[in-house]
Parts: sequence; C-alpha cells; structure tokens
Amino acid sequence: MKAKDSELMEKIVSLCKRRGFIYQGSEIYGGLSGTWDYGPLGTALKNNVRNLWWKKFVTDREDMYGVDAAILMNQNVWKATGHVGGFSDPLVTCDKCKKRFRADKVEGYDLKAEKGKCPDCGKGDLGKPVQFNMMFKTHAGAVEDDSSISYLRPETAQGMFVNYKNIIDSFHPKLPFGMGQIGKAFRNEIAPRDFTFRSREFEQMEIEYLVNPKDWAPTFEHFRKEMLDWTKQIGLNPVNVYENEIADADRAFYSKRTIDFEFDFPFGRSELYGLAYRTDYDLKKHSEFSGVELSYLDEETKEKFVPHCIEPSFGLDRTILAILSSAYTEDNMNEEVRAYLKFAPVVAPVKVAVFPLLKNKPALVEKAREIYQALRKEFGAVMFDDNGNVGKRYRRQDEIGTPYCVTVDFDTIEKDNTVTVRDRDTGKQERVEAAKLSDYLKSKLN
Ligand code: ATP
Repeated sequence: MKAKDSELMEKIVSLCKRRGFIYQGSEIYGGLSGTWDYGPLGTALKNNVRNLWWKKFVTDREDMYGVDAAILMNQNVWKATGHVGGFSDPLVTCDKCKKRFRADKVEGYDLKAEKGKCPDCGKGDLGKPVQFNMMFKTHAGAVEDDSSISYLRPETAQGMFVNYKNIIDSFHPKLPFGMGQIGKAFRNEIAPRDFTFRSREFEQMEIEYLVNPKDWAPTFEHFRKEMLDWTKQIGLNPVNVYENEIADADRAFYSKRTIDFEFDFPFGRSELYGLAYRTDYDLKKHSEFSGVELSYLDEETKEKFVPHCIEPSFGLDRTILAILSSAYTEDNMNEEVRAYLKFAPVVAPVKVAVFPLLKNKPALVEKAREIYQALRKEFGAVMFDDNGNVGKRYRRQDEIGTPYCVTVDFDTIEKDNTVTVRDRDTGKQERVEAAKLSDYLKSKLN
C-alpha cells in the first residue's frame, strides 16, 4: 500500500527529518532556501549510492578515468561554453504579490504570448520574462574586478572537458574512453521546490564519453541501457521510470540526440537523469577559447579529429529522492499501520541491527555485543540497539529501512547458540546458528 501521493511527500520529508536523513540547510537560522543538509543516515545512503555509481561506471570499466576537478574555474571556461551569456531561465514577477517564478514552470503561462496569471495569489499578472543567469558569481582573490570573476560551477561536466588533454598526456588512452566525476554543482534556481528535487546546491555524477563520431549511435544505446540498468540496481521500480526522447526543436542546439529519464516523484513525473549526444561542441569551444589544440590522432588510421561526446548525467540528490519515494511503504503489521523504507539492501544505510532481548541481562548484552562487533567487521553499517522493547526496536529499524534485525535471547546463551533473524519486509523470523549468521546475512543481503 502506498500513501496517497499528495501526502506522500510530506510523510517522506517528515521521516527524513525525524530519523536523521535530510534536514533543511541552516535550519536554526530560519533556513536558506534551496539548501539541504544530510544527517548521518542520509549521508550513509548517499555514500552507498555514490560508491555504487563509481564502481559501476568508473572502477569496473577499463575505458573510464575518474577525475575530481575544482569547483572554481577560470571564468573563460564559462564564456567558452556559453554559460556566461546564456545559462539563464525566464524570470517572471507577479505585479500584485511581487513573487517571482520561472515562466516555463508556471502552469498556464503562455510562453509565446508572454503572459499568465500568478499561481500563488491568483490575482496578479505575470508579465514578460527577463532572462536570469543561474550561475553563482564570486571573486577569486583580494581584488574584486572583472579579471577576478569566478563562478561556482553549474555542472561538473566542464571540469572533465578541460582535463581531456591531461588525461591523454598522462594515460594515452585510445578512443573510445570516458571521464567520470562526482561532485557539487550550484544553480541559483529562481524557485527551489519539491524538497531536494530542485536545489541551489546539489551533487551530480557525470560521464563525458568520447568517441569517433562514426561510433556515436551504438555508444548512446549502450549508455541508455546502462542507465536503465542502474535505476534497477538501486531499487527503483521500473514502472516508475520513463524515457522521454527530446524532440529536435526542444534539444540544446549542440545536441543531436537527448533522452530525459523521468521518474514518478510524489509530486508528479519529472526529470531524473539526462543522456545527450553533445557532438564535438564542448571540446571545440574550449580549443577555440583556450588556443590549445584538443584533437585526437588515431595512430592506426592517421585520422585527426576532435572526439565527439556522449554525456550520461545523473543528479545524486534526485537519485536519493527517487530512492526514498520508491522505498516509502505503509502496510498493516500486527494490526497496526506500519511505515517503513523498503530499501534495496545495496543502498540501505544500515544493513543489520543487533539486539539483546533484555538490556538488564548482562549475559545477553555481552553475547549481542560480541555478535554486533563481528558483523560490523563484515558489513560495516551495523547498529546496536537495546532501547525499549523488541517490537519498538523493529519499528525503528523498519522506519530507517534496515533489512535484517538479529535478536539474542535466552536460547542463544542457554540452549543452542542460535539467534532470531527478522526480515523487514515480511516480519518473519527465523532461527539461525550464530556461527552461520554472517554467511546467512551475506547471502540475503547480496
Ligand atoms: P531541469 O530541467 O529539472 O532544470 P536540467 O535539464 O537543467 O534539469 P541538467 O542540466 O541536464 O538538468 O542536469 C543534469 C542532472 O542534474 C539532472 O538530470 C538532475 O538530476 C540534476 N539537477 C539539475 N538541476 C538540479 C537542481 N536544481 N537540483 C537538483 N538536481 C538537479
């Protein structure tokens, strides 16, 4: 049973705060719109996703090079790409309540006629849009003049393109090969909304995969499949994931093909990821603006050309939100409504929790702690809990999505050295020999 979509978002936001997944940024000062702080469980969830992505798309592949480029870049990078002139959204202001909106996201706003009604007060008119540049501008160094302007990067992609030549010089890779990066990106969004979905500071996981232009189509297809495979790996329900082929007229002018991967978020179907064939646009522009040659010499054919690029782009925070939305489940267990996070074990922030049946029986506590320490070595993310009764502990673990709970009771220490292992999704309990516990959990968690 899924909670009603209108309430689902509120329930997820409240669970995230209560249980230490995600908090409003700068909360004690009244917050800063569009910023979010990940608490211990959110950080663990994010790290799991980040590590899985890096493994799947970088370390498990021979053709990928990982980079971690600086957030602040020479301002000419953004002049070359067109971001300084054109990375903007259409901003409209209500003539009555003075609220500001992104024109293309206001329902009913007519982009051609350039008019619409205020979605907030309902009374005012939204006039002609002005272009609002979304890059956060700053100055690098003590002198604040035009030469010291820098920007917080609005995407991680360019940190890879500007290192193309370094990778070629250090590693001499043959085409096709790619660069991968995970890192923060910043956009001064006009209207941050829908929890972390549209934030002003967020994290991206991006690949710039370089090919001979004659090979772009099969490479595009390869990454399309890999991206779908990834959504399954992290536990998103395939029926909630859509591919939206972007029409010629709606694509960025340099892109020859773009697919947006969309997801049924609680607030509606929206973009999760993008996959674009960017041609040789970025490398050509950087070559033109920097004066550095960025072509590739095929030593076999002696062909010299600027490689073309396929870009799979993933938002990490939107991934976390999609995982949370997919995982949030309500059912009836023991005649009570239970809300829990049905995480795929690979992403679950806590894999196993260990309890002594009673906390005032030293022999139970000692045995439980012994098992807890052993499992920690094996699985890392293991929690010890002896607070309240076992039913309450199950509830707490269900709420944070822990797949298995292990309870040490009197049979463990007095009879047969077995423990109970309880399954989050079914609530079923099994007795397992303590000596075989680690293998049992390994087979279940994998
Ligand atoms: P949108 O149309 O939603 O503004 P976009 O098409 O501008 O997104 P891209 O520039 O393609 O997004 O960025 C790549 C990915 O980065 C997106 O698919 C998304 O997952 C993530 N992303 C972009 N903007 C934001 C944001 N403001 N907050 C959180 N994630 C974002």
